[in-house]
Amino acid sequence: MSKFYLKFDDERCKGCGLCVNFCPRKILSLDETRINKQGYPLVNVTDPEKCIGCAHCAIICPDSVIEVYKNE
Ligand code: SF4
Ligand code: SF4
Repeated sequence: MSKFYLKFDDERCKGCGLCVNFCPRKILSLDETRINKQGYPLVNVTDPEKCIGCAHCAIICPDSVIEVYKNE
């Protein structure tokens, strides 16, 4: 089990890619095959095991889409 996990409020995502660019582990990517109701591509966590829980993604997101949690 990975140490941290992310929750996305998918319908608020605007597919801007800021979180993708700011993740120091480069484990986020926009998935053009998953589109929300607004028509924007959603974010995938490509390698959850590598997440260090830094929350840079959550802080940089202009629409407060991401929450970072620690697995107990
Ligand atoms: S918490 Fe940090 S390492 Fe994990 S996905 Fe977000 S930016 Fe990347
Ligand atoms: S920064 Fe927020 S709005 Fe932009 S792609 Fe990431 S989750 Fe979506």
